[in-house]
Amino acid sequence: MTATVIDGKQIAEQTRAEAAAGALALSTRTGVIPHLAAVLVGEDPASAVYVRNKQIACEKAGFKSTLHRLPANTGQAELLTLVQALNADADVHGILVQLPLPKGIDTTLILDAILPAKDVDGFHPENVGLMQQGRPRFLPCTPAGVMRMLKVSGIETAGKHAVVIGRSDIVGKPMAALLGQKGADATVTLCHSRTQDIRAFCREADILVAALGIPQFVKGDWIKPGAVVIDVGINRIGDKLVGDVDYLPAAQVASAITPVPGGVGPMTIAMLLANTLQAAINLSGSDAR
Ligand code: NAD
Repeated sequence: MTATVIDGKQIAEQTRAEAAAGALALSTRTGVIPHLAAVLVGEDPASAVYVRNKQIACEKAGFKSTLHRLPANTGQAELLTLVQALNADADVHGILVQLPLPKGIDTTLILDAILPAKDVDGFHPENVGLMQQGRPRFLPCTPAGVMRMLKVSGIETAGKHAVVIGRSDIVGKPMAALLGQKGADATVTLCHSRTQDIRAFCREADILVAALGIPQFVKGDWIKPGAVVIDVGINRIGDKLVGDVDYLPAAQVASAITPVPGGVGPMTIAMLLANTLQAAINLSGSDAR
């Protein structure tokens, strides 16, 4: 079997176009332009690239985007004051604090300070709770992007066994929750660093989501013939990006697979736009679509 490649770039483009159309409709109706405020602390080059890409995507979709860049030695109190000012700024609809934050800053404290109505990353405990209860305000962007890819690609999740590797708050845990929720209806196994014999779980997976951050960890012969393989991992090897799945052998066995790059990555930014548009609609009190 040679897998169908799930084209994240194309699905993301479509998602971004929908967000752009939504933004235009909102501004025509109400004069409100969705506005994402990004906060970048320190000089981490990868973080700077991620934030820049998010800003470019905002601008292309007709959103307003502002960047608040702070030096690496910024104190926690100063960062908290900025977050509170953005919470209070009626012109700002979405707040994104780029992670990781420098050592010495309590990430949980900062993320918890973001107004839940502007938490377009979906990390605030209130939004996590709403998601868990199946009445989401904002879904975390990466798992939401995966769910959208599955849907657009016509991949049935109901009754399937989904195995998620990785249990981070940003990817693995919400991914497992979304796959198991009513409507998606998969039976979910969540594997992590203490799981014994991950290979055996992978072999049982109809849908396998790898989100652990170890290059080419999942081997081709771990994959059940015909399975759908979603590779969330982004790992740099020299000047090459590779996923958490050993792509070529896996693609010989799977029925569908996401490439790296060009798979899940572009979806994350597209879902951030969708969330920011939703925040602007909610905050402007405009419920027409
Ligand atoms: P993380 O480091 O926060 O979490 C990794 C998880 O993997 C942990 O829960 C850990 O238990 C598990 N794990 C680690 N080693 C393991 C092992 N040997 N066997 C099984 N499980 C193991 O990482 P994260 O933020 O969830 O990111 C995971 C990967 O996804 C990284 O490569 C990251 O770059 C990538 N990522 C991609 C996107 C995207 O847009 N495509 C977004 C976020 C993260």
